[in-house]
Amino acid sequence: MIPTGAALVAGVTGDPIAHSLSPVVMRHWIDAAEINALYAPFPISAENFDSVVRGLARAGCRGLNVTLPHKEAALELAQTASGPARAVGAANLLTFTPSGIHADNTDIAGFLYALAPANVEFSQARALVFGAGGAARAMLYALLTVGVTDIAICNRNITRAQGLARDIVPAARIIPWEARDDALQGRNLIVNATSLGLAGRDDLMLDWQRVGPGSVAFDSIYTPVKTRFLVDARARGLTAIDGLDMLIGQARPSFEAFFKRPAPALTDLRTRLLKHLEAH
Ligand code: NDP
Repeated sequence: MIPTGAALVAGVTGDPIAHSLSPVVMRHWIDAAEINALYAPFPISAENFDSVVRGLARAGCRGLNVTLPHKEAALELAQTASGPARAVGAANLLTFTPSGIHADNTDIAGFLYALAPANVEFSQARALVFGAGGAARAMLYALLTVGVTDIAICNRNITRAQGLARDIVPAARIIPWEARDDALQGRNLIVNATSLGLAGRDDLMLDWQRVGPGSVAFDSIYTPVKTRFLVDARARGLTAIDGLDMLIGQARPSFEAFFKRPAPALTDLRTRLLKHLEAH
């Protein structure tokens, strides 16, 4: 359906935002649901973030997904926030309601959605998370909510890892970046929440021989879908999951919040996104 003047409007903001696949995901659902709606990218600089977001809310926009570098600012701007968004300290979803702007964090649900097919026995999981940025915060919070108790965090900037642990997982072991290969020993859930592996960046290279069979490797990155981290984990025979399902998993509750209906079940959505990535 071509959006008319009566279209429901929502969008995604970040700086930059041109790389975002969220408009592609939402477009597929909007088309499948046959609703009069528009989901647009809004490039907003940090200095203009508050004024533009408030302006979009006043203009009748339903809400925004939020990505780097605005996730903390989004939480601060909102009048109300969910418990998980407050606990993580960042929001990737703002909904504009008659009573004000509400912040939530759907990266938590997105991560668990992506892990679901791997049937991880969370009570037995020995997790090692690389990274200590916003994505790592949401993923660590997610792991806590499903009962993972044995958690190690390895980040280049160790002070940042210590701060994250203090805020979210006080019992976590903090591993210096130089010891990342040794840290793999005995770990059965390995998570890349760094930006290493993104197109044009260095890869996260690890000694996968130290990881036992039956373990699961998850990479938050989806551009490219096949990172060196995942290729090496697969070569070791591990279950390797890319960031595309997390993207879909975090978008699903956002669609529901914006358009007040469930996201249509599109069994081929992942295939469509892979085709899109190949073509661009
Ligand atoms: P942040 O900028 O907050 O954090 C970046 C992380 O990467 C930090 O831990 C940083 O370490 C680490 N890092 C960056 N460069 C290097 C390097 N050269 N060597 C070692 N470590 C490095 O980003 P986010 O946490 O928001 O995002 C992280 C990744 O997760 C991104 O690639 C993003 O695309 C992805 N993501 C995917 C989602 C999905 O739906 N699939 C959702 C959200 C994020 P340090 O602290 O030392 O700087």
